[in-house]
Amino acid sequence: MDRDNSTTLQHTGKEHRVGTGLLGAIETSVTFESPTPESPPIYSRLGNTSNHKEVESVLAALHEAEDAIVTGSGMASFNLIFTSLLKPGDHVLVQDGCYGGTYNLLTKVLKPWGVETTFTPINRWEQSLKPATRMVIFESITNPYCLPQDIGQATSFARKNKLMSVCDNTFASPILCQPLSHGADLVVESATKYLNGHSDVIAGMIAGRKDLMDTLRTPHAYLGTFLATSQCAQLLRGLRTLDLRMEQHSKSGLRFAAALESSPALVERVNYGTSDKSIQKYFPRGFGGMVAVRFQHSVDVKKLLTKTRLVTNVPSLGGTETTATMPSYSTNWFMSAEEKAKYQIDDQLIRFSVGLERVENITHDVLRAAQDSLP
Ligand code: PLP
Repeated sequence: MDRDNSTTLQHTGKEHRVGTGLLGAIETSVTFESPTPESPPIYSRLGNTSNHKEVESVLAALHEAEDAIVTGSGMASFNLIFTSLLKPGDHVLVQDGCYGGTYNLLTKVLKPWGVETTFTPINRWEQSLKPATRMVIFESITNPYCLPQDIGQATSFARKNKLMSVCDNTFASPILCQPLSHGADLVVESATKYLNGHSDVIAGMIAGRKDLMDTLRTPHAYLGTFLATSQCAQLLRGLRTLDLRMEQHSKSGLRFAAALESSPALVERVNYGTSDKSIQKYFPRGFGGMVAVRFQHSVDVKKLLTKTRLVTNVPSLGGTETTATMPSYSTNWFMSAEEKAKYQIDDQLIRFSVGLERVENITHDVLRAAQDSLP
C-alpha cells in the first residue's frame, strides 16, 4: 500500500491516550502514583507520559522508524545525540554550510570537551577522514542556502567507513524526505519548524533504529532534554495537518522561486530544489517552502525587508505565514567577515519561508518591495 501520511497523522498513537475524549487528556501532573514499589517511575522529565508516547508514535510512523524521541528543541536533539554518542577524542565530519546553531554547538561547546569537527562538502569528506572520525552530519536541504544534498552519497560514505550518519531533515519534514530509508542511522528535526508549523512551539525530534534510540533514552532523562506535556499536545495539533501543509508549501515554494528567477533585473540567483535527477529522487513530493534569494547589488536588501507588507522579517521558518530573514544577521550572525565571505553570506542574501497565503500576493509583495529598494 502507498504511504498514507494523512491517516497516520490522525490516528497513530491513539492507544496511548488517557480519558474518553476524542483527544487524549494533557497530563499536567509531573509525577504519578506507582502501582507497586517495583513499577518503573513515571515522572514527566523522563518523557514517559501518555502525551510523549502519542506524539512519539506519530513521529516514528512518519519516518517509518522503529522509535522516535520528542525533545525540548532541535538543539536539544543534537545535544542529546552528541553527548550520548560521542566522547572526547572523537572527530565529526559535517557538511559545509550547515545551520549556525549546529555549527556553534560543535565549535563552541563540544570542542572544549575534546570533540573535533571538520566542515566540508559531502563530496570532499573522504579527504578529511581521520582514524578518530565517528560521525557524519548533514542536512537533507541546507540552512540557509536551501540546497538539497545527495543523501545516498553521505550515507554510503558513512556505511563504507563504519561511521554513524545523522541527517537534519528540518527543511523537508518526513512528508518530503525520509532519510532513514536512504541509509541514515538517525534523523533529527527541529519540530519548531514544519512539524508543528504554527510558530508557537519550540520542540525537536530524533528517529531511528530501536538499538540506537534505546542508547539515547537514558541520557535523555539525565540531560533533561524532554518536552513539556502541554507542548506535546500542541505539537500533535500542529502535526495533524502536516501532509496538507507540506503539499501547499511545495507548490507555492516552486512558484515563488520561478517568479523571482524570472526577474533578473532585481534577482541575481535563486536556490530552490535541484534539476539533478540523482538528488531529486530523495524528494519525490517536492522541495517545500524554503527559498534562498540573492538580490542584485542595486537592491538595498535591508530596505526591502522594511518595505514588504505581507512578508515578516523573523529568524524562524516553517509557519503558515511567509517570513524572511537575512542569514548574515540571524542564523550566521556569529561568523567573522572572512567566514561570511567564504560562505557568501552577505547583505544581498534573503532566506524566505514561503507560507500558505496565495503565492501571487507574496511574489507581488516581494518584487514590489525590491523595486522600491532600488536607488
Ligand atoms: N536545524 C535546523 C536546520 C534549523 O533551522 C534549526 C533552527 O532554526 C535547528 C536545527 C534548531 O532547532 P530549534 O530552534 O528547535 O532548537
